[in-house]
Amino acid sequence: MLLIRSHIFLFASMFFSCFLSCQNSGSTNTTTNQTIKNTTMPNSFQKSEEEWKKTLSPEQYYILRQKGTERPGTGEYNHHNEAGTYACAGCGTELFTSEQKFDSHCGWPSFDNNIAGGERVKQIADYSHGMIRTEILCAACGGHLGHIFDDGPTATGQRYCVNSISIKFIPKK
Ligand SMILES: [Zn+2]
Repeated sequence: MLLIRSHIFLFASMFFSCFLSCQNSGSTNTTTNQTIKNTTMPNSFQKSEEEWKKTLSPEQYYILRQKGTERPGTGEYNHHNEAGTYACAGCGTELFTSEQKFDSHCGWPSFDNNIAGGERVKQIADYSHGMIRTEILCAACGGHLGHIFDDGPTATGQRYCVNSISIKFIPKK
């Protein structure tokens, strides 16, 4: 009996150590996309790339799913000052308010905070194009929004630099 028990223990510990090493080997592949700030929000809007292609316009797919950037000064909301909220164009989660928007003169809509104070916008280190930047994504669907910088002129000191194509304006009723 004792022998069987020790066998079970041995098997269980082998399985556990294999599980741990598999986990470690998986995480070594993510050196270029380290998560700085994660959220506990469920990813209830996750779709396959094929499904995203069907639901988004080609421009939205390029920016939201392939991390593209719209040309500066060309976005629909660059000089947009109506009262309301800005939702993720991918999943509809409300991300920013018109009160959080400010004119940064950088060519893209800019916000000094997000609606949930951090929970709805995920931040990830981005080392692409030879720069060290922090990418911002919709925490619910993983859609690329833009980048965040700590040179904002308001009290938060933050500048959420967002592609107009990544967001959809909802006027205040
Ligand atoms: Zn989203």
